[in-house]
Amino acid sequence: MKYTWSSATHVGLVRESNQDSVAPEHDGATDEILIAAVADGMGGAAAGDVASRVALAAAIAPTPEEQPDPAARVRTGNEAVLKAEAEDRTRRGMGTTLTLGMFHPDGHLDVGHVGDSRMYLFRDGTLTQVTDDHSFVGELVRAGKLNPTEAMQHPRRNIVTRVLGTPGLQVDSVELHLHSGDRVLICSDGLTDMVTRGGIEAILADTTTVTDAAWGLVEAANRAGGVDNTTVVVVDADQ
Ligand code: MG
Repeated sequence: MKYTWSSATHVGLVRESNQDSVAPEHDGATDEILIAAVADGMGGAAAGDVASRVALAAAIAPTPEEQPDPAARVRTGNEAVLKAEAEDRTRRGMGTTLTLGMFHPDGHLDVGHVGDSRMYLFRDGTLTQVTDDHSFVGELVRAGKLNPTEAMQHPRRNIVTRVLGTPGLQVDSVELHLHSGDRVLICSDGLTDMVTRGGIEAILADTTTVTDAAWGLVEAANRAGGVDNTTVVVVDADQ
C-alpha cells in the first residue's frame, strides 16, 4: 500500500491562537510506515498550545521499530504533558486530545485515541466514524439519548471527559485493515462541531487530491462560522 497525505490547520474566525497540532505538517507520500496525528489542546493562556505540541512531539518521536504500539505513544504523550505541567504553575489543568494512526504498508492501520478529535474512514462513498468521542455528548450519543445533530448543538458539547495530562490515563486502541481506494480523515472538533457528517462525506467524495480534500474541509468549517481551530489530516491508501 502506498499512502498519500495532506494536512491543514487554521485558527478559525473567532479564536486568537491555534491550539491544535498536527503531524505530518507537510503533504507527502510514502510506501513505508506513516504516522499521522491530530492533538487539540485546552488550558488557560498559552497552556493549551503547549499541551498539544508537547504531547504530539513526544508521541511521534520514536521510530516505528522503537514503538510499534500507538496506544503506548499516546501514553508517552500523556507523560510529556504531565511533565510540562509540573514545570510551570500557569500550565496547571492543561490537557489535550490525541488521535494517532500508524499506517502500515500491508494496509493495517493501528490507532491510539483519547478525547474528542476523531478518525473517520471514507470507503466506497460512505463515511464511518472510527473513534469514540470521550466527551459528555459523545457518551449520550452512544447511549442513544442524543443524535449526532443534537450533539453538535448541545450547550455542553465542548466538555471532554478524557484528555492527556491525566495520571493513569486510559487509551483506546482501534485496528483497521485498509483497502485500496480508502480515504482516512483525522480531525479536531473545530471541523465536526461546524460541519455535519453528510457535509464531510460530500467533501471527501467530491475532491480528487488529498490537498483539495484537506483544505476543502477547513474552508467548510470556516464558512459555517469557524468558531474553533480546525485541523485535519487526509490520507489516501492506494495499491
Ligand atoms: Mg477544538
